[in-house]
Amino acid sequence: MPKAIYPGSFDPITYGHIDVVQRARKIFDALVVAVVTNPNKQTLFSLEERKALCEQALREAGLGDVPVVTWDGLVIECAKRYGAIAIVRGLRANSDFEREFQMALTNRDLNGEIESVFFMTSGEYSFLSSSIVKEIKSFGGDVSRFVPRAVEEALEGKLRPPKPKR
Ligand code: ADP
Repeated sequence: MPKAIYPGSFDPITYGHIDVVQRARKIFDALVVAVVTNPNKQTLFSLEERKALCEQALREAGLGDVPVVTWDGLVIECAKRYGAIAIVRGLRANSDFEREFQMALTNRDLNGEIESVFFMTSGEYSFLSSSIVKEIKSFGGDVSRFVPRAVEEALEGKLRPPKPKR
């Protein structure tokens, strides 16, 4: 039964990530979303918050049966732990390719048994990123086209907390 993990920062999960989950599910019998720590990225949401948001967002998208886990360590070790034969990643229209290429080859070097598999997102999400969503929301813009409601509400709480009453 081919199993895959989809690792990422998911800070926060967007419809672009969900699009990749939907596509990967058509190919793999089982898919695990792994919210990972990344020492090079400072995140807005904690690891547990990101996991909870992934769970809520996937439920909202009718993908509530996709398990979400957290992982602090090498992605390749996470794949082994969950018995995955593949690492799923998404490709957008911009500069994902070079970075993903480098990561895939590094992971292959660490463990040649596990393949990296890339899914191209649909056109409407091909310029969408968690960073853009945070930027739009921090200026009070509407992000409802890009993230599920639960995520929008969480962003509202983090980036635009209600002003204290005098
Ligand atoms: P990471 O810090 O590991 O890059 P991200 O959450 O930014 O974590 O991205 C996880 C994966 O999802 C990456 O492969 C990224 O290219 C992909 N991804 C992010 N946003 C989109 C999108 N809008 N469409 C397709 N793939 C995406």
